[in-house]
Amino acid sequence: MTQTDATHDPSLRSWVASANGHPDFPIQNLPLGIFSHGAHHPRAGVAIGDEILDLPAVLEAELLSGEAAQAVEATADGTLNGLMALGAGPRRALRTQLSALLAADAVPYPGLLRAAADCTMHRPARIGDYTDFFVGIHHATNTGRFFRPDNPLLPNYKYVPIGYHGRASSVRVTGAPVVRPSGQRKPASETEPSFGPCRNLDYELEMGVWIGPGNDLGEPIPVGEAASHIAGFCLLNDWSARDIQGWEYQPLGPFLAKSFLSTISPWVVTPEALAPYRIPQPPRPNGDPAPLPYLHDVADQAAGAFEIELEVTIRTATMREKGLPPHRLGLSTTRHMYWTVAQMVAHHSSNGCDLNPGDLLGTGTLSAPEASGYGSLLEVSQAGRQPVTLPSGETRRFLEDGDEIALIGHARREGFATIGFGPCLGIVEPARYNPAP
Ligand code: MN
Repeated sequence: MTQTDATHDPSLRSWVASANGHPDFPIQNLPLGIFSHGAHHPRAGVAIGDEILDLPAVLEAELLSGEAAQAVEATADGTLNGLMALGAGPRRALRTQLSALLAADAVPYPGLLRAAADCTMHRPARIGDYTDFFVGIHHATNTGRFFRPDNPLLPNYKYVPIGYHGRASSVRVTGAPVVRPSGQRKPASETEPSFGPCRNLDYELEMGVWIGPGNDLGEPIPVGEAASHIAGFCLLNDWSARDIQGWEYQPLGPFLAKSFLSTISPWVVTPEALAPYRIPQPPRPNGDPAPLPYLHDVADQAAGAFEIELEVTIRTATMREKGLPPHRLGLSTTRHMYWTVAQMVAHHSSNGCDLNPGDLLGTGTLSAPEASGYGSLLEVSQAGRQPVTLPSGETRRFLEDGDEIALIGHARREGFATIGFGPCLGIVEPARYNPAP
């Protein structure tokens, strides 16, 4: 497991003034991303305060050496796939050298920075495959209860890290419009299905996991080695059309209810940056089965979980007009994962399936047990039966056009700097596809 080092020193400050005390991107974070400026091609950068450090420019100025230089050379195609494929060594070397380069006592190079506000963020990698898990046990329980009040969790849940293959093509970074999907809906109150705009549009509060080196087909990744195949983390909003989902999902699981869009935060927060916020996997409740041996690793159980605070807020069009701030719908943490990310990786590859650099995994919705920590509107409104009242006086069962949903993530620990994930926003736009019945 990654240890803390001098790059995590909470007293470290940067010559980039906006980094000092920055809520997301102080010098202790140094997340990687792909940005463009003006008409220039997308290139690799690092978020530092309100600025982006241009990595190819740092390389060109001959300020990097050895494995750190190799890491930036691997981004020449304008994606992080090559860097992710290199694994932890070059990524850690880059972090160490960038921390020294940006430190307050180093020579300032303001010419290597771009104001983040003037840049466009892109997907950090070519995402070959996207898989969404279901490891948030309280979300699984809450949603299962709508269908099976006495026995909400299916019998496989505590043995299998449940997942499904999502759609990689429709993953977008923060700010992409959330066009209300159309599809087949058949509420219980109607006898025949109809095609039209989704009526029960929802968000899901999740973490995304970026795959690093990965495995060859037929060569599973043992759980004890899985951490070395994780390149970083982001926030993930798995937008969900609940009415379409309810009609289409049996027997093969989610399909068009999920594949219209997934929004990610564009910065890849590395496992090295998150080292101080690792925690033991919370113990399973008494009576739960132990994980099968292929999913059990002593070191993973001891330090394979994370303490990351996750929040979701809403701001409707009316709230924006009235100047009202976003309203919190849920505050949760990554503590509520029943399986670790290493167990997700080990299980995914256990049948020989190959994972590749830049593949994206979602954890599933990470709800807290209490109502103030629910990670979907389905749970907040009890499947639409208890509308939530907003500060504007409006109510919501599900999302309306104009609603802005923001996911927010921060890692905090006493004695360390707080780091964040940056924005993961989307505003719902009206359906565009509504053919005559
Ligand atoms: Mn999901």
